[in-house]
Amino acid sequence: MPTTPWTPELWRLLWSFLAATLFGAVVGNFWLGWGLGLAVYLGYHGWQLRRLVNWLRSGKTRNIPEAGGIWGEVFHYIYQRQRKHQQRKRQLEEMLERFQEATSALPDATVVIGRKDEILWFNEAAAGLLGLHSSQDKGQPIDNLLRHPDFITYLNQNGRGGEPLRIPSPVDDGLTLAVHLINYGRDQRLLVARDISQQQRLEQMRRDFVANVSHELRTPLTVISGFLETLMDSGDECAARWQRSLDLMHQQGARMQHLVADLLMLSRLETDRSSPPRELVEVPALLAAIREDALLLSGDKGHHVTVDTDADLRLYGAERELYSAFSNIVGNAVRYTPAGGEVHIRWWRNGTGAHFSVSDTGIGIPAEHLPRLTERFYRVDTGRSREVGGTGLGLAIVKHVLSRHNARLRIDSMPGKGSTFTIDFPADRIA
Ligand code: ADP
Repeated sequence: MPTTPWTPELWRLLWSFLAATLFGAVVGNFWLGWGLGLAVYLGYHGWQLRRLVNWLRSGKTRNIPEAGGIWGEVFHYIYQRQRKHQQRKRQLEEMLERFQEATSALPDATVVIGRKDEILWFNEAAAGLLGLHSSQDKGQPIDNLLRHPDFITYLNQNGRGGEPLRIPSPVDDGLTLAVHLINYGRDQRLLVARDISQQQRLEQMRRDFVANVSHELRTPLTVISGFLETLMDSGDECAARWQRSLDLMHQQGARMQHLVADLLMLSRLETDRSSPPRELVEVPALLAAIREDALLLSGDKGHHVTVDTDADLRLYGAERELYSAFSNIVGNAVRYTPAGGEVHIRWWRNGTGAHFSVSDTGIGIPAEHLPRLTERFYRVDTGRSREVGGTGLGLAIVKHVLSRHNARLRIDSMPGKGSTFTIDFPADRIA
């Protein structure tokens, strides 16, 4: 039979019982003997219990009391548990220390925020970029210290699903921060702010460069095109000999003018960070005008352009921008649909908002290109785009206009069958 801690304990009990019985026999009173035996036995356990309590109270792991039997076992297990617990604690402390050292060394400001938006912990970079001070700011609500209205909205919207927010640093207006709010653990959030001033300066330089070049090119191009037209219309004998070359020059000049206009429009949309004006836009009338443009663009290709609109549905937004977005999509439908094809424009509302769609029976777009179509100069087929007078900027303009109107673009397409471009406007844009 295997020895368990209970074996010596049972022996001890047996011997106590025998000794008590013997004592009872000697004094001639068994009850007295057993009573005394029980008292001694209970006294022994009481004494061990007291040693255990004293040892636990002392908090010393090392000086474990010596004991045999079941009490030895109890002391041993508690001792082992305590040692394991201490080891784990030490490991966790070391891990925490390493983690804090690593996050302290990060160049990005990192702040741990609690359930009530209070600051629980932050690193050194947070002091530099957000102006937090370790002694007085811990425990303060973060929106007491970062008071930019956009940040407060961002905090209330719980980080807008991981999208970064750009705000000036509260320490230095010249610094721009990209702020991310990340949810983790139970009701805790991590705020990470990165200094993107340099990146923003480069972006600004690029935007200015494109805008300036486009602007500078506009006047010479207008002059050249103007003279070419005069020459072509002059009926001059010399001009007649050069007719084909003049036509080509005029065509290419018009393409360049179109490209410059699109570049200027795009850089204006990019630079203008303010929300677009809330003009009352008569979309049905706008679509009727766009249909006329589409028929002109189609020329002798004979596309069937149909419009199906809700005549009372109007929108709040920037008319010029919306005109540009709608006509880019309709223009593409005509340009990428072979002669005689169908282009159907719809404008309607439902419970989710207002919707604009253009369906065509054109060449369609393979699925792998769809996610990249709104990038500048991204074309499925560059040769074809140039042939039909595309600049590669149309859908990039559409994307910018839509983001300024909180609207969304959806594209469904089947190569060889046609495409449908749909714009969803939120209900609060409906007039
Ligand atoms: P582009 O000036 O080249 O048309 P866009 O930005 O307007 O530039 O469009 C990007 C690309 O998307 C086009 O080059 C073309 O390949 C594709 N595309 C856009 N609309 C359509 C459409 N309705 N049918 C087929 N392809 C389209």
